[in-house]
Amino acid sequence: MAELTITLLAGGVGGAKAAEGLANSPFASATKIIGNIADDDEFHGLWVSPDIDTLIYSLGDQIDRQQGWGRKNETHQVLNELTVLGQDTWMTLGDLDLATHIYRTHLKHQGVSASEITQRLAARHGVTLPILLPTDDVVQTQVKTPKGWLSFQEFFVREHCQLDVIDIEYQGIESAKPTREALEQIANSDVIVIAPSNPIVSIGAILAVPDIQQAVEQSGAYVIAVSPLIGGKTVKGPADKMLESAGKSIDSKGIYDCYHTFLNALVIDEIDQTDTAWLTEQGLDVLVTPTLMKTPEEKADLMSRVVEFALSHKKQRAA
Ligand code: GDP
Ligand code: CA
Repeated sequence: MAELTITLLAGGVGGAKAAEGLANSPFASATKIIGNIADDDEFHGLWVSPDIDTLIYSLGDQIDRQQGWGRKNETHQVLNELTVLGQDTWMTLGDLDLATHIYRTHLKHQGVSASEITQRLAARHGVTLPILLPTDDVVQTQVKTPKGWLSFQEFFVREHCQLDVIDIEYQGIESAKPTREALEQIANSDVIVIAPSNPIVSIGAILAVPDIQQAVEQSGAYVIAVSPLIGGKTVKGPADKMLESAGKSIDSKGIYDCYHTFLNALVIDEIDQTDTAWLTEQGLDVLVTPTLMKTPEEKADLMSRVVEFALSHKKQRAA
């Protein structure tokens, strides 16, 4: 095979599951990830990049597997002391995790790019799949609720996603510049896999960086998305509310609507197999399979089959 190039667009928890699956598949050496930076925020003067850290900790096997985020064997002495000092500590940042944020913030102040910081943190954790960023600029998702505009972490962590979502904005997006690495990676891809991540705030925020969605649309890659919905429900998180606020239905059709300008195939759960006919009518290839990934084997197995499906259908389309 001539050199194969695979790109994974990934958010946090769903993104990391797909990333781990690819890392443990025969396609590992062909794969690079483009991660989401729009959930980034500042806490106690430190720059926190939750989705990127979830990818790094997961791929480095340092993640707390129960939670799906944060470090394993974590302690919270610093946060406890900050609470005593009267600080807002609803964002749970453990002691080991804080070292990551101190390091990131320190380098950021020295003028090191977010991409370079990501590379150094990934190297520290022995991560071999390259993690690229869509932009080195600051983009921050804001969520409009009945309580007003909140930062993404205020909505997600402090308010436990319980407020209605009226609107979503990616602050800073107009002036954000895409990274050359991300644009080149997309342009050179044979297959672009969209992880079962939140289509609005994880994947949507990556695609909203100027030129990124256009690069996906113009690339010759076969684009395949794994639906984050199983039986019309999210496995975890607010993707359902966010789809609704964007005027999309909370099902395969809603996912298709988010990606229809570039999507070639959708991977849906067995439970949703009645959606196949409609998706096929839209011109999509459809892979119906169990899509819940819990064990390392389930992750590697699903992601291997996703790429194999993409490669065989790409060939059929070319024939
Ligand atoms: P976040 O940044 O941590 O919120 O995570 P992502 O945006 O990457 O992913 C969130 C989405 O992943 C949610 O909509 C979940 O429904 C979906 N998800 C999580 N685990 C799985 C899984 O094993 N299979 C599928 N199909 N979706 C999943
Ligand atoms: Ca996230």
